[in-house]
Amino acid sequence: MTLLLDSTSLDARRAIARGALGPLAHGLRAELAPVLDGTIVIPHEKALLSRAGGRCPRDGSLLRFDPQDPRHLCLACGMEVVGELHDRFRPYWYQLWLAERVLHAAVLGVLLGETRCVEAAWRVLDEYAVRYLEYPNRDNVLGPSRPFFSTYLESIWLLQLVLAVDLLETSVGGAVDAKGQRVRDRIIEPSARLIASYDEGISNRQVWNDAAMLAAGSTLGDEKLTDRALEGASGLSALLSRALLDDGSWYEGENYHLFAHRGLWYAFTMAERVGRSPSVALSHRFEDGFVAPFRTILPDLTYPSRRDSQYAVSIRQPRFAESCELGLARREDPRLLGILARLYDPDVVVRDTGRRASTADVECNVPATGLTRADLSWRSLLFARETLPAVEPPPLTSDLLPAQGIGILRRDGGRSFVALDYGRSGGGHGHPDRLNLLLSDGDARWFDDPGTGSYVDESLHWYRSTLAHTAPLVDGRSQARVDGELVAFEDVGAAGWISARAELAPGCRLQRSVVVVDDYLVDRIEWESDAEHEIALPLHGVQVFGATGAPLRGEPAPIVGGDGREDGFAFLADTARLEPASSVVRLGGSPNVVLALPSLDGWTGS
Ligand SMILES: [Zn+2]
Ligand SMILES: [Zn+2]
Repeated sequence: MTLLLDSTSLDARRAIARGALGPLAHGLRAELAPVLDGTIVIPHEKALLSRAGGRCPRDGSLLRFDPQDPRHLCLACGMEVVGELHDRFRPYWYQLWLAERVLHAAVLGVLLGETRCVEAAWRVLDEYAVRYLEYPNRDNVLGPSRPFFSTYLESIWLLQLVLAVDLLETSVGGAVDAKGQRVRDRIIEPSARLIASYDEGISNRQVWNDAAMLAAGSTLGDEKLTDRALEGASGLSALLSRALLDDGSWYEGENYHLFAHRGLWYAFTMAERVGRSPSVALSHRFEDGFVAPFRTILPDLTYPSRRDSQYAVSIRQPRFAESCELGLARREDPRLLGILARLYDPDVVVRDTGRRASTADVECNVPATGLTRADLSWRSLLFARETLPAVEPPPLTSDLLPAQGIGILRRDGGRSFVALDYGRSGGGHGHPDRLNLLLSDGDARWFDDPGTGSYVDESLHWYRSTLAHTAPLVDGRSQARVDGELVAFEDVGAAGWISARAELAPGCRLQRSVVVVDDYLVDRIEWESDAEHEIALPLHGVQVFGATGAPLRGEPAPIVGGDGREDGFAFLADTARLEPASSVVRLGGSPNVVLALPSLDGWTGS
């Protein structure tokens, strides 16, 4: 019996790994070469997070990680950088990469019957048993850790190792020998204890702590640890019922959904294996979670960069195909098949998927690439359906995620996209952008959510301002962190509408209604309050033209607004005041997309 599959299912996977999913197994096996060679060196020092380490000093990009080349290269500008802080950051990637390779070796060793893989996995585990307790538990950022600087990273790392041990022991009938006991005593038990000492509450990171505690608790026969991971105050059940919302979306938005739901997959699967499945309602919610993030995708097949998301992340990446595969392995869902049909489109240009250097479940985005099932990971080797039906991708249609609080009106098979983001404020990673309007036409993003840059850069405060969004601004200050509520949502074809309201400042209630008709939309904002307020609406990318048709430059003038760090006004530069000739302005200078404003007495900035 294994933590993820019973022995009968595991046996069945051997034939699939040699048959329909042979190309996947073959690719993973080829990438394992450096581990099978026995030339792996485990870092002596723990990873260190610093402002400079791992980033290009010139452009701030994350430096490339190549498991076999320790040089620090910036792929954005080509510069090679050196220095201790970069050297100390690299083990972050390396340890996660290596832990995932141990699991690859175990999966391939068991499925393909390859002794060499099994031996390689044990070799690294043996070395980790020596090394783990030598890493000092200090200089941390988010919670205790020995090899890393944050607890959730250690959880992801430990989870890989525990699953590897579990599979390796299954291949010898479940017997625990001296080396298995040593790994338990010197890695699993002390690491699980450290993870259990730090509870992150209702957080995407706690998902990983729970998954690691559940895996460790089951392997060690520690029922208290297992109980806590499943039923504790921030255990699996609590996260499924409080952080995963009723429509299957994670409360912190698409970006954290993708990270958290991957962790939920481990915890949920293991909970089923130990005979402690969450309730039927929570199981449905978890299964809805596979499709939830795809329901809001933009016409260019990127996720809207809501909240603290990296900008314009494409769904054309292996881990998103894999999420669809894992969802379909559990439940028939034509929406997931439709997404996979898009992702497996043979006409899309194939690029490097980055799998050779993948760092377990710490997500690194790569440019959009064409995909096949051979680009998936070990999870698909163990779980994906043997074959998929051939499907024509159905058009993307209007949709509402009522618990997350975002409504989308789509036209032209998904080419036109209008969304009103009104609902959940999204916790610590949320932005003060309730009643935010998103508008895309194919690849053109007219009203866009800019996402978030670096967490350690001053610009974070811009991204976390209302001003950075197309959302109503009350009295020049970023909105209060409130949830909005839906008033109406309907799409009857000829017209569709979304209306929602939120109390964006104490006693000041705003309602925004968007009506989409054939080739235009009406955007109406109303408010009511007993006190007087200034209501402003930031519109980004708008050009204003004078009577001659030339763009107006305006007179330099300051824009006065709130002076709070996250009001955003301090980030404005080259501001000017315009006196437009008419109330019609153009979006991005396009002659085809115009805005008719009720009155225009305003300003512009960049
Ligand atoms: Zn650079
Ligand atoms: Zn935002």
